[in-house]
Amino acid sequence: MKTFCGRANPTTGSMEWLEEGEDYDYHQEIARSRYADMLHDKDRNVKYYQGIRAAVSRVKERGEKAIVLDIGTGTGLLSMMAASAGADFCYAVEVFKPMANAAVKIVEKNGFSDKIKVINKHSTEVTVGPDGDMQCRANILVTELFDTELIGEGALPTYEHAHKYLVEEGCEAVPHRATVYVQLVESKRMWSWNKLFPVRVEAEDGEKIIVPPSEMENCPGVPSVCDIQLNQMPSSDFTTLSDVVTMFRVDFSKPVRSASTCYRVQLEPVKSGKAQIVLSWWDIDMDPSGMINCTMAPYWAKPTSALQWRDHWMQCVYFLPSEEPVLQGEKLFLTACRDEYSVWYKLQKARGEENTADVRGGSPVCRCRAHLLWNRPRFGELNDQNRTCQYIQSLSKVLKTDSVCLCISDGSLLPVLAHYLGAKQVQYFVLFFRSLHFSLFFKANHLEDKIKIIEARPELLKPSHLEDKKISVLVGEPFFTTSLLPWHNLYFWYARTAVSSHLASNVTVLPHSASLHMMIVEFQDLWRIRSPCGTCEGFDVRTMDDMIKDSLNFRESKEAEPHPLWEYPCKSLSDPQEVLTFDFTKTVPQHCLSTEGSVNLLRKGRSHGAVLWMEYLLAADISVSTGLMQISNEKGNCEWNPHCKQAVYFFSSVIESETLSDPTAVTYAINFDTKTGEIAMDFKL
Ligand code: SAH
Repeated sequence: MKTFCGRANPTTGSMEWLEEGEDYDYHQEIARSRYADMLHDKDRNVKYYQGIRAAVSRVKERGEKAIVLDIGTGTGLLSMMAASAGADFCYAVEVFKPMANAAVKIVEKNGFSDKIKVINKHSTEVTVGPDGDMQCRANILVTELFDTELIGEGALPTYEHAHKYLVEEGCEAVPHRATVYVQLVESKRMWSWNKLFPVRVEAEDGEKIIVPPSEMENCPGVPSVCDIQLNQMPSSDFTTLSDVVTMFRVDFSKPVRSASTCYRVQLEPVKSGKAQIVLSWWDIDMDPSGMINCTMAPYWAKPTSALQWRDHWMQCVYFLPSEEPVLQGEKLFLTACRDEYSVWYKLQKARGEENTADVRGGSPVCRCRAHLLWNRPRFGELNDQNRTCQYIQSLSKVLKTDSVCLCISDGSLLPVLAHYLGAKQVQYFVLFFRSLHFSLFFKANHLEDKIKIIEARPELLKPSHLEDKKISVLVGEPFFTTSLLPWHNLYFWYARTAVSSHLASNVTVLPHSASLHMMIVEFQDLWRIRSPCGTCEGFDVRTMDDMIKDSLNFRESKEAEPHPLWEYPCKSLSDPQEVLTFDFTKTVPQHCLSTEGSVNLLRKGRSHGAVLWMEYLLAADISVSTGLMQISNEKGNCEWNPHCKQAVYFFSSVIESETLSDPTAVTYAINFDTKTGEIAMDFKL
């Protein structure tokens, strides 16, 4: 069987569908999966075990046999817990074949083959009866089908079906119930991920303001969840406007309805402000008494208990359709609507008539199309006035009154900045082959006659597109929506190469070069997602460890993976080092660019991996970093660009650097293949 995998091609800037063997897909899924993270989640595991023991005891006390249905068994962990707790039989259902195979091995290795039957099916395909997958209905339902939004992985339809067809009425469920909590906040930082703020430009003839189109202002955005490590959000970056309130509950021991519905709560702001964001998280009670509770509450909502780090369950940021000024003590209604898989929020002022009619309707749909073009970090980046200032300063240095400017970047404000910074008769061209609807933006700023959008790919650019002029200034941020890893934005270099024949002989390219930087780090927590687990609550899960290792090594050279490091604290163990440079004033060379060298480990710590990022030299003394902003203190704590993902290469084994008198060195070999636009790397510790 062949599988098609979507991959961004950094040499063309577009998505390509590559045919891969079915193994490829599996390996990708396993290598990048959250299974290791779940197995490292001690708090979760301990509480599931307690809840399962309690449920088995309750059934046994009633004199019944304990028959367990574990939906989404993964490694088989929860079934093994049930079998150890004295369950008579477990049906362990797992839809993902490689995991079902692994579960069979793990169950066997731990000696539970006679108590646990692994069924490689989606739970809705499972049959019950003498010839069925299950001999009889179960009286204990165990699952772990939750994502950060609780219901995003399809827990509700799965439960709905299980109660109808697979479990007895009045069954015990672990977890017993889930509760979703919300808190209303004002946060310029988070709001900047969803709305474009006016951009100030100090031009020679006074200050100009770039305004977002009204369509954008009133747009409800996209329904996809914004899940983040809220514990990394400093309290100075938001103001809580309400207490934490319970939004809705789901009792998993009773029939569950997955059909769309709304929940409404009354709120009284504890402070006046601008209601913009609903922060949300959930907890699960493993037993009916609520004594075994596993919570995703962030630091300020649960200050007494030690926080368990986990990446498979985080917290949600929901954007209200528009910001609403609210007064302390005023009566407000917050409505959560959900369909089978997602949740969205609306805020209403109580004005006598309690009108719920207009809060129904479907999930938010982006009308302005900006939310389809820009993801949340990209909005944040465009709203970063400091960053904009660096581009303004650089553009001011290179633009002349007769400049003919071509911009190559997706959904960029650079053409508008360039327009305001140049003389009026100057013509600008933008090459947006993916973002034509961006014209909306130019219209709102009355620039539709000043900035021309060229509907062509760079290699198809014709002199007529440019009114037979040569380009004197070529600009890019660079930013492309298809980029996953930092160096994928080097597509700018390929596009620059493709338009070479249209460039004036004395063309200025901004940025005129890019450089790849690297640093060895110790992660506070992120290491867990790729680290072997060994045993989990006494069960041997090394089969899973081996499977992840094999998948990571599936391709000869391991790949770096993108992570937004502002969410994942780490400390630097080496100095940051520039490893490769890319000269945009020249075309992409035919040959590969490679480098080798070594870095000294300067601080004590565990080397979990290398972080790589790009820096762009805009002008002689102005560069922007998409990675490290600064190393903030003696301990080596790092501050990362909050709008970008950095590349993380996890080392296959960790080394502890102990003494600093004889520093350990890490050697590296890095190769940029100009044919594919990919970077391969190898490290030796
Ligand atoms: N129970 C394991 C793994 C949880 S991850 C643990 O707690 O460690 C969730 C697993 O459920 C995934 O492996 C996914 O493939 C599987 N899954 C999700 N919905 C399912 C369904 N309806 N039927 C069968 N498997 C499902």
